[in-house]
Amino acid sequence: TTGAGVDIDVVVIGAGQAGLSSAHFLGRAGFAPHTGYLVLDHEDGPGGAWRHRWPSLRMRTVHGVHALPGLAMDPVDPDTPAAEAVPAYFAAYEQHFHLPVRRPVRVRAVRRDPADRLLVQTSAGTWAARAVINATGTWDQPFWPRYPGQAEFTGRQLHTADYRGNAEFAGQHVVVVGGGSSAVQLLSEIAEVATTTWVTRRPPRLRERFTPEEGRAAVAVVDQRVRAGLPPGSVVSATGLPLTPQVRAAVARRLPMFDRITPTGVAWADGRRIRADAILWATGFRPALAHLAPLGLREPGGGIRVDGTRAVAEPRLHLVGYGPSASTIGANRAGRVAVREIRELLAGAPPRAA
Ligand code: FAD
Repeated sequence: TTGAGVDIDVVVIGAGQAGLSSAHFLGRAGFAPHTGYLVLDHEDGPGGAWRHRWPSLRMRTVHGVHALPGLAMDPVDPDTPAAEAVPAYFAAYEQHFHLPVRRPVRVRAVRRDPADRLLVQTSAGTWAARAVINATGTWDQPFWPRYPGQAEFTGRQLHTADYRGNAEFAGQHVVVVGGGSSAVQLLSEIAEVATTTWVTRRPPRLRERFTPEEGRAAVAVVDQRVRAGLPPGSVVSATGLPLTPQVRAAVARRLPMFDRITPTGVAWADGRRIRADAILWATGFRPALAHLAPLGLREPGGGIRVDGTRAVAEPRLHLVGYGPSASTIGANRAGRVAVREIRELLAGAPPRAA
């Protein structure tokens, strides 16, 4: 041991799609569970962010959950809530591959130590790792924009992360903010029981079909952003919204972003006002990376510069599920790439004698 923490080759932070994929490839590469690598996750059980998806999000309404590497998901009734089906699959996956996941463990900080290790400081002690795979997703970092008057609003404000179904909005008027898929899904759900207003900062970009080439092009845009040290941005901003009947109906009624919030609703600079019982901020999430702050990797542009999955300024750190790999399919591939590079890195630099 280095004295500062328990020695280990690789710590994976987060047990969502990205963390489990990484763990799978670490096991395949010959790292020993528990003593060679470990996954730390602050949830109480398996599933990553899927544990928190709103109950009305069913398997039939998700965009498509790509299986984890090496074990397919058993077929489920398409009406099963994603918040049940995916965690059950992840639980089976962890068991099948005997993945060493420790939870609930919250990683508070990752910092460099003088002995060439990355110290992973957690609610359950400190590990001194030769490499770290960060796979912490975005769910813990809901993004709330700030608008004048927001604090004086007397109705309810909530974020996508707080949404638990439309029942509580029955008979109300709800303003939904945001131009992504979640905004459109929640809008149409709430519109079944309430009146709604949809606002977005920019007119939504729409697409008729979505070809594999367009998918690759969208991922390439995000890849270029993180290579340049910019925040990844949302994939929808790169792809556009699919032109479903739901989207078409919503777009026809969409309004530009309001300018301020009043105690009873929202208002535009031209004097227009709309009363609201609730404002739903479907404004997305940001990468949950606060625990990496001691490494000082943030670029002036606001992101972490990443080449593939490797942090350019800290090659012992890989970000999986970040930027171009922030999808279930992207996370799978990125896990494989990160493990290959880490294996090469550690082979080239044998551990120091304690
Ligand atoms: P997560 O599943 O968020 O896992 C991260 C894990 O890290 C969590 O368990 C968290 O508790 C843990 N963690 C975070 N910080 C710490 C810390 N400091 N210490 C310890 N543990 C920590 N993608 C698709 O491909 N298809 C879809 O249909 C789809 N639908 C989506 C629907 C919604 C509403 C949202 C918000 C996203 C959707 N996505 C979808 C994107 C999806 O989130 C990703 O594809 C993927 O599930 C993310 O996996 P992940 O492992 O990166 O993150």
